[in-house]
Amino acid sequence: MMKTEEGESFLACVTFAAPSVILDTDKLPPEPSRTQCPQCQQFVVTETSTSISSVTWLVCVMTALLGCVAGCCLIPFCSNKFKSITHRCPKCRTSIATLKKL
Ligand SMILES: [Zn+2]
Repeated sequence: MMKTEEGESFLACVTFAAPSVILDTDKLPPEPSRTQCPQCQQFVVTETSTSISSVTWLVCVMTALLGCVAGCCLIPFCSNKFKSITHRCPKCRTSIATLKKL
């Protein structure tokens, strides 16, 4: 990424290409984001990992019980709404924030 002052003013206009640093970990989106690691104080792009929660299984079972075809059963696994997302620091592996859905 560009690090010059000129580069930053340019990138500020292109928010999609270079998302701003999010210091409030409660406001992290469910995708990798720029933030400051509370552990090593580095500005990093977080690594996200999703974990399928028990709610996902519950939704899956309920969908199956309602008589949907097998395809419907897989929908919850494709949707981040039913997953919890963990942001990790790529440098020190600290878990910075966990987003829980539902
Ligand atoms: Zn760190």
